[in-house]
Amino acid sequence: MEIQKKIEGHLNTLCREIGARPTGSKANQKAAAYAGRVFADAGLNVTKQEFDCMDWTENGSTLTVDGQDIPTAPAPFSLPCSVQGELLCIRSLEELRSAPAAGKIVVLCGELAAEPLMPKSFVFWNPDEHRETISLLERGGAKAVLTLSLSPEQFVPVIEDGDFQVPCAVILPKHLPLLKSGLSVSLTLNTKRHSAKAANILAVYGSGRQKVCVSAHIDTRPGTPGALDNASGVAVLLALAEHLSGQELPYRIEFVLFNGEDYYSTPGEMVYLSSYLSSPKEYICAFNLDGVGAKGQSTAYSFYECPQNLLSCISGCAADLDGFEQIEPWPQGDHTLFSFSGVPAVSVTSCNIFGLAERILHTEHDTPDLIDTNKLEALVNFLHTLLCGGSIEQIL
Ligand SMILES: [Zn+2]
Repeated sequence: MEIQKKIEGHLNTLCREIGARPTGSKANQKAAAYAGRVFADAGLNVTKQEFDCMDWTENGSTLTVDGQDIPTAPAPFSLPCSVQGELLCIRSLEELRSAPAAGKIVVLCGELAAEPLMPKSFVFWNPDEHRETISLLERGGAKAVLTLSLSPEQFVPVIEDGDFQVPCAVILPKHLPLLKSGLSVSLTLNTKRHSAKAANILAVYGSGRQKVCVSAHIDTRPGTPGALDNASGVAVLLALAEHLSGQELPYRIEFVLFNGEDYYSTPGEMVYLSSYLSSPKEYICAFNLDGVGAKGQSTAYSFYECPQNLLSCISGCAADLDGFEQIEPWPQGDHTLFSFSGVPAVSVTSCNIFGLAERILHTEHDTPDLIDTNKLEALVNFLHTLLCGGSIEQIL
């Protein structure tokens, strides 16, 4: 079967048959099992790297302020609650330091609702002000926290943290004028934190001492089919594995499906980091795919800690093709795991992916019709040429 047909099949299974696949959910386990079967059927050696995590479910929420119902949504991973109390609006970290929050329902607005607060366990980047805000909220004795949405129309949370120990919900900025300190509030969040398991899927082709890693994350946010983010990356890895023909290579190829890129504590990435990236010398380089194949956009690659010969080899291969473009490095996503560990990394995405980020990614609109499977086939061929056509071999 031609490559494109296989890619379409994988996209269909992941986005339409399975759908949203948040880490820890049954759907996520299904997706991981499916990918594991495809790798195994292609003759690769498959292992599961299992870890504990949380499956979070929600079943609605209500907020009443001074007798009036106000639309709200639980912050993802929030504890449940059913509380009444007095409202207290807090606009800055300075105000929070001395706020009499005990027993109240606190509203974070102003500078406290200007950007997402990093989860407690997120170690790569976690500013002191974020840590202090979270810790003051937890120690202050508030019954619940309401945060102003980061978007005018949608409930985009400031706090998204399964380790945060205060129930937390999101309100829209247009309702802020109705929330005045001193008013009486009731808040109910019908949420549940279940303990669950999830796994990274690793599949190895060949047996060389050194390896080239090709990775993509298989998880999604809740409620999104996750086509561009990131079924398309997974589909390329699966189709590439199916396209390997038994040829012997001087290195092994390690396919990694990370499980947790869109989960608050990136648990799959942390497990891989501690078990595999502790011996970075084995790696020749790593390719991470996220957001590939957007219709009407070139395939965009960028380099992190890559030596000049690797950079020239990849750019040379891409220059022979239409629709590939080098972009500036961007310091987010799973490629940074490799580059922080000293492994030369190449990120592959679509041009203008950041333009799509707000409206499409992480929403129900991220569907397979946004994807051009010709581009994904071209990417499979590009990676195949690099890995099996002697290009990477030349730089060893
Ligand atoms: Zn992604």
